[in-house]
Amino acid sequence: MMLLNGGVLGMLHGELPRTLRSSADSWRLGTLLVACAVILFIVQELYKEQDWIRIPGNTLMTLGVTVYGRALRQFYGLPDARHMLLPAAATLLGVAWFVYAQPSMVGRITVSTVFWLVALIDGLLVLLRQRGGRAVSQKVMIGVFTLVILFAAGRVAWFLVTSDPGVSVFESSRMLNAFSPLVLSILPIIGTTVFLMMCSDRIRGYWEQAASVDYLTGLPNRRTLAVEGERRLSAARTGDLPLALALIDLDYFKGINDRYGHAAGDEALVEIAALLRQSAQEGDLIVRQGGEEFVFVLVNLGREEALARMERLRQRVAAHVFFLEGQQVPITVSIGVTWLDGCGAGFGELLRSADAALYCAKQGGRNRVETSERAAGCHCRTGFDALPQRTSASASSTASP
Ligand code: GH3
Ligand code: MG
Ligand code: MG
Repeated sequence: MMLLNGGVLGMLHGELPRTLRSSADSWRLGTLLVACAVILFIVQELYKEQDWIRIPGNTLMTLGVTVYGRALRQFYGLPDARHMLLPAAATLLGVAWFVYAQPSMVGRITVSTVFWLVALIDGLLVLLRQRGGRAVSQKVMIGVFTLVILFAAGRVAWFLVTSDPGVSVFESSRMLNAFSPLVLSILPIIGTTVFLMMCSDRIRGYWEQAASVDYLTGLPNRRTLAVEGERRLSAARTGDLPLALALIDLDYFKGINDRYGHAAGDEALVEIAALLRQSAQEGDLIVRQGGEEFVFVLVNLGREEALARMERLRQRVAAHVFFLEGQQVPITVSIGVTWLDGCGAGFGELLRSADAALYCAKQGGRNRVETSERAAGCHCRTGFDALPQRTSASASSTASP
């Protein structure tokens, strides 16, 4: 059963993303080692006088469990444990001692089970150390490891206190021994299925990430904005809290692409995204809405504070030194800001309102922050002709009025 399960994992190997393959290889190797250990236990059963077979049998079992731990480390992108092979080496020496130097059944069982436990607990700790929302598959794997650990610990305790231990793990006259092969097979059989579930969860996570995050900048994308924006909006409405929305658009970005190439344009977008992230505070939502346009949702901030933050952001971008194709290139942004109470309806309304402010900022000369109120006042949206002349720097914030 163990080998078949390992075989199924092998068949699926090519279907797994590259990032999971080394982990799956290790899990398969762990299963092979545990299966070999069980085969050796059976062989030992047939040739009872050949006690030495217990040495490779128990060592392979510890090694198999160790390799399962390694598979979990690889799954989470962790380096190998420093003294990974130590439990297997200690099993080998310990069991050899109790076979040749001081023959003892209890000694052999105790020493081998203790080192299985060391390897199992290491695997369990790897699972438990993973912070953040745990997937069901991970919780089930924690359960599988815990069950095997409890059983192994109970087994060694039982053999230490009993005066007449059963001779083999396969002897069915004792309940404990009858259970041993069943519990030993939990990791390679059920564990392998759970491992595949973990892989499937990881793959689903990749897809969700790909669907909700912008590939170039790593910022949430428009799809996320639709969901998260509505969520924040209704939270702000429910709690009667302020919410500001800013639309940020790079100025003359087409010219940058034309002059320095699309790849350089991409680099500039990545740098802008980094500047936006640096300007973020807890609770903010920053999204690449598309092209060279970003959305900044600010929560729990008064009007003036939100506006001041966007103004600082504008200045920060304008002061930043962009190096594209070895040349220093100035890049500026125009920002349109709106507020929750400025327009009553949904998130789409807010976006439209910020868009009107952005349009006004563009028409007003770019590299500036405009508000939806000023946009409404100046009727920017009615067309180029209707644009009022800006006469004072106080009417809007600009770097170069
Ligand atoms: P304005 O100041 O009016 O916003 O002028 P603009 O040139 O920035 O605006 P326009 O809408 O004419 O051009 C936007 C450009 O952004 C055109 C497009 O090639 C570029 N762009 C959109 N997405 C990407 C991207 O992912 N990478 C790169 N390099 N360029 C992009
Ligand atoms: Mg632009
Ligand atoms: Mg644009």
